[in-house]
Amino acid sequence: MSCQHLKSLTPEALIPKANYPTFRCEECIRIGDRWVHLRICQTCGKMLCCDSSKNQHARRHYEESGHPVISSAELSEQWLWCFVDEQAIGY
Ligand SMILES: [Zn+2]
Ligand SMILES: [Zn+2]
Ligand SMILES: [Zn+2]
Repeated sequence: MSCQHLKSLTPEALIPKANYPTFRCEECIRIGDRWVHLRICQTCGKMLCCDSSKNQHARRHYEESGHPVISSAELSEQWLWCFVDEQAIGY
């Protein structure tokens, strides 16, 4: 694995899913749109929608903020994705 962003994140360091009582993309809510799956920015904790969603807010957030790593917010999924290196890991 060549991605230092993912290497530096241990499961204990992740923002816990339990901290998110409401599962929603705040940007989609703002514009009244819908999403498919939800992702969490591991830098600032924003919950945003995935690449399968029309608005791709997680990707846009990376492009605007440079925050490199997201995790899946879906309760059945445990993985991280780095936009910079385009690498994923499970945990
Ligand atoms: Zn990386
Ligand atoms: Zn969205
Ligand atoms: Zn962020």
